[in-house]
Amino acid sequence: MSLLSVVIPAYNEQAMLPKTAAVMTSLLSGQHFSYELIFVDDGSTDGTWEEIRKAASSTDTIHGVHFSRNFGKDAAICAGLAHAKGDCCVVMDCDLQHPPETILEMMALWEQGYEVVEGVKHSRGKENLLYKASAGVFYRIMTFATGIDMRRASDFKLMDRKAVKALLAMPERKGFFRAQSAWIGFRTTSIGFDVQQREAGTSKWSTISLIRYALTNILSYSTIPMQAVTFAGIFVFLIGIILSIQTLIHYFSGKSVEGFTTVILLLLFLGSVIMVSLGIIGYYIAQIYQEVQRRPRYIISEQF
Ligand code: UDP
Ligand code: MG
Repeated sequence: MSLLSVVIPAYNEQAMLPKTAAVMTSLLSGQHFSYELIFVDDGSTDGTWEEIRKAASSTDTIHGVHFSRNFGKDAAICAGLAHAKGDCCVVMDCDLQHPPETILEMMALWEQGYEVVEGVKHSRGKENLLYKASAGVFYRIMTFATGIDMRRASDFKLMDRKAVKALLAMPERKGFFRAQSAWIGFRTTSIGFDVQQREAGTSKWSTISLIRYALTNILSYSTIPMQAVTFAGIFVFLIGIILSIQTLIHYFSGKSVEGFTTVILLLLFLGSVIMVSLGIIGYYIAQIYQEVQRRPRYIISEQF
């Protein structure tokens, strides 16, 4: 009998956890495969860990991993996958926004021989307008920068053991699950789902954190900003040629001098282009710095 591991990252989800554990248990028990639930407490500051312990006390199908602090969802997914023993693993949110029944359809596809089954959003569910707009911009930029269609992608996925192994073998510290799971390849198919409404608790993403998330991930998965520096250089160079020609013409026709305004404007313009370019390169250097520090992706303080 094959074993399914369900990895569930949870950050301040004490309100949702008992419900999620109950729904998952009743859905998965009595299927033709066995299962385990792995809750990863991403350094919650509320009673999430106690809830995980409570849920696990009456059964041995529930496992828990507790981080020493908040390391982010991608780190939590990574830890959960490392902890999982299943022949295939499903990653899903703790807030039941990813409909659990879809897991059964994913399993059916896995049994047909697919190695990665991606959950694709049919609809995004109810979100406030500002969130929708910022998420929209975020995914548009991400899609452009990484070349992977991110708009309908989600972290709701089934992966075969082979794919999990490949994913865990990726050595980078700054993991971005959504992009990494697309990058590894394998026989992939997708399945649509409707994003459900969150029943309790709140979304952990603010606009600011989304922007920060977008920036880091764009810089980790794309060198386009760095190439943009080259294009900015070429652009400035072309302007330079035109202005030089104009200046020379003025010089030889004897009506030179006066160009004080032009000089100031050019200085300011060039100064800002150079500083922005240095800033972009600085971001990459910061990333390289963090990678060479070789710090662990997460620290586990407790697990069972
Ligand atoms: N999450 C996490 N660490 C974080 C933020 C979120 O493990 O730092 C988990 C959270 O508990 C939930 C999932 O990631 O299970 C999705 O979070 P949320 O529902 O807040 O995001 P949204 O659905 O609004 O995109
Ligand atoms: Mg959610």
